[in-house]
Amino acid sequence: MAELNCYITEQRIEGADDGVLDGKTVAVKDNISTVGVETTCGSKMLEGYVPPYDATVVERLKDAGATIAGKANMDEFGMGTTTETSYYGATLNPVDTGRVPGGSSGGSAAAVAAGEADLALGTDTGGSIRAPAAFCGVVGIKPTYGLVSRYGLIAYANSLEQIGPIAATVEEAAGLLDVLAGPDERDATTVEEGADSDYAAAADGDVAGMTIGVPVELVEGADEGVVETFWNAIAKLEDQGAEYVEVSMPSVEKAVAAYYVIAMSEASSNLARFDGTRYGLNATDVEGAGDLSAEGNWNEAFAKAREDGFGPEVKRRILLGTFALSAGYHDRYYGKAQDARAWIRQDFDDSLDEADVLASPTMPVPPFELGEGLKDPRTMYLADANTVPINLADVPAISVPAGESDGLPVGMQLIGPKYGEERIIRAASALE
Ligand code: GLN
Repeated sequence: MAELNCYITEQRIEGADDGVLDGKTVAVKDNISTVGVETTCGSKMLEGYVPPYDATVVERLKDAGATIAGKANMDEFGMGTTTETSYYGATLNPVDTGRVPGGSSGGSAAAVAAGEADLALGTDTGGSIRAPAAFCGVVGIKPTYGLVSRYGLIAYANSLEQIGPIAATVEEAAGLLDVLAGPDERDATTVEEGADSDYAAAADGDVAGMTIGVPVELVEGADEGVVETFWNAIAKLEDQGAEYVEVSMPSVEKAVAAYYVIAMSEASSNLARFDGTRYGLNATDVEGAGDLSAEGNWNEAFAKAREDGFGPEVKRRILLGTFALSAGYHDRYYGKAQDARAWIRQDFDDSLDEADVLASPTMPVPPFELGEGLKDPRTMYLADANTVPINLADVPAISVPAGESDGLPVGMQLIGPKYGEERIIRAASALE
């Protein structure tokens, strides 16, 4: 089914001869480094870039006996919610090929949904695992910040992002998390906590006595069909002995604004390293670069390489992020966004005192038609309203299929406290 365009590079990488993932194929998002295999981040800027080392998660996949099926398509540098900003063309949603698979890990989720891979790795900075899982009708987990090593992940916004699993079932996604989780001496943000859990075993569907908090702010304003499917899924959990309570989290109204200021600021700094001299695109090959041996031409060469190598969404974010961090504006934008982040964290702490897990629709809307989301960036950013608060709060969340609306998949998002992955896995498995 090559026409779905799930992969940027379709190349098998064999792992160890045995292990818990023996015989399983895994699609790996193309912002995760694979030694000897091109890694592009969906960008022209990194066309032809071949990493000299494996990401820690890739090492762990190989050690567990997995076969990597290829490098999965993605929005350029993870910036998008549809996989349409990829330089290598859009990925189609296997459920309805006139629609997007979600993003930015759209290739990963589509590969699993279409059976082109058994499992997949995505990355989630503000929803990029959960959005495509929801739109393609599969399961995705955004782990607690620090549970999974980011060594070898090409950074978009370090303080927000995590690598995580995508699979057809909760148990398989949890089993993959078991392989990925745990400290890494090459990533100082990783921790011991949660490493020795048995996530796959937590997929036992036992929600008797569990309290599920529904933040009203994350349901209001969502598409009618999505809301109906969501409440039917909550009723299903109640039938199995869970109880639901409404909670209020006023801070989440600020989440999209805070997220985009922080993500763009970090991106503007992270992407400064791409200048056409060290990775991928070569400034000397860019048309109009002029004679680079002449003194003083390098600034122009960097500018040309960046103009040629980055797509419009990436450029927009570098410009806005640079602006938000510039002298005189720092307090007005970045400082305010950090304050909002602290408030959001507090709201999650308080709500998770009242309930064991929180639940919301993963996406407030059904999958966009191809081309629809690219028309207006703000509409696209607002579709992240339910997913970005989770990254700002560093907590874990899972998206699990909740049912359908007009024949299209709807995802339910279940959110837990830090290192509460077992709880959300348990609750999610009760919906299968
Ligand atoms: N859609 C969000 C963004 O564009 C999230 C992306 C992600 O999680 N990588 O930033």
